[in-house]
Amino acid sequence: MNLIDGKLIAQKIHTETRAAAERTKAQGVTPGLAVVLVGDDPASRAYVRSKDKMCRELGLHSVKHELAATTTQEDLIALVQQLNDDPAIHGILVQSPPPSHIDESAVIAAIDPRKDVDGFHPINVAKLTLGDPTGFVPCTPLGCQRLLVESGIEIAGAHVVVLGRSMIVGKPLALLLMNKGKGGDATVTVVHSRSKNLAEITRSADIVIAAIGRAHFVKAEHVREGAVVIDVGINRVDDPSNAKGYKLVGDVDFDNVAPKCRAITPVPGGVGPMTIAMLMANTIAACRRIHSLD
Ligand code: NDP
Repeated sequence: MNLIDGKLIAQKIHTETRAAAERTKAQGVTPGLAVVLVGDDPASRAYVRSKDKMCRELGLHSVKHELAATTTQEDLIALVQQLNDDPAIHGILVQSPPPSHIDESAVIAAIDPRKDVDGFHPINVAKLTLGDPTGFVPCTPLGCQRLLVESGIEIAGAHVVVLGRSMIVGKPLALLLMNKGKGGDATVTVVHSRSKNLAEITRSADIVIAAIGRAHFVKAEHVREGAVVIDVGINRVDDPSNAKGYKLVGDVDFDNVAPKCRAITPVPGGVGPMTIAMLMANTIAACRRIHSLD
């Protein structure tokens, strides 16, 4: 069994991003990312902090807007429009999920699609569906694809079973892997909470990608001998031995599944570091496209 080291692969991408940031700055523009957080959810706050830190480490301009949980949708959209018009900003990310009084889809629709580095705007969703490479693809699916490519795992012709159909992970990932061309051409099956015979379907996969948000859901019986397993899940489970009282585990029962696998990602240290790496790469791409630098 090979362990797919997401941290190491993310480091490689960061090195490329740092070089691309230098090249872009030498051409007269500093790529800039604005991250907007509404409310004080601790996990969201930690994500925003790490995105800001990574931008600075890679030489990108970074702006962080932390708004009160009581911020109105109107004020949030006004900020998004201000960022749309700001020439120093090339990527805009509104941290999900916003408080319940805010309609997230209305906020996403307000982002200039050319600055939508999360790839959630309907224009970018349409471009992914059409196989149009001028759009932005959500960072986690992009990170999963890159992990497979960098690990030398053949995607073309493989049967990939994606568990989960969210707009953040499962659905865009299925589209990405089934699209024509490099990193695509897979035969993709998507399963979800209404699927029948789930284990039978996942057992027929060359590549299993779990993105359902259920700790240790994927067991040895779900995976055939020699399969590749990518675990997107991040789940908190109680752990009295840990100072925090919990630990993070994936959707895959790693200890029992790993021995059957040709390759598998750990949690943490698998898909997680790739998501932020792809966000940084998307920001550079946005900047270079806006300024017609390629
Ligand atoms: P959602 O809750 O939005 O979607 C979960 C999907 O899994 C749904 O399609 C749901 O089906 C399906 N599902 C839930 N339970 C089952 C089940 N028992 N059997 C089959 N399918 C099931 O989650 P996300 O897509 O946002 O996230 C999934 C996981 O990935 C989470 O653990 C999240 O923390 C993690 N994540 C990790 C990231 C990273 O950077 N590593 C980034 C984003 C997410 P249905 O549609 O029928 O309800």
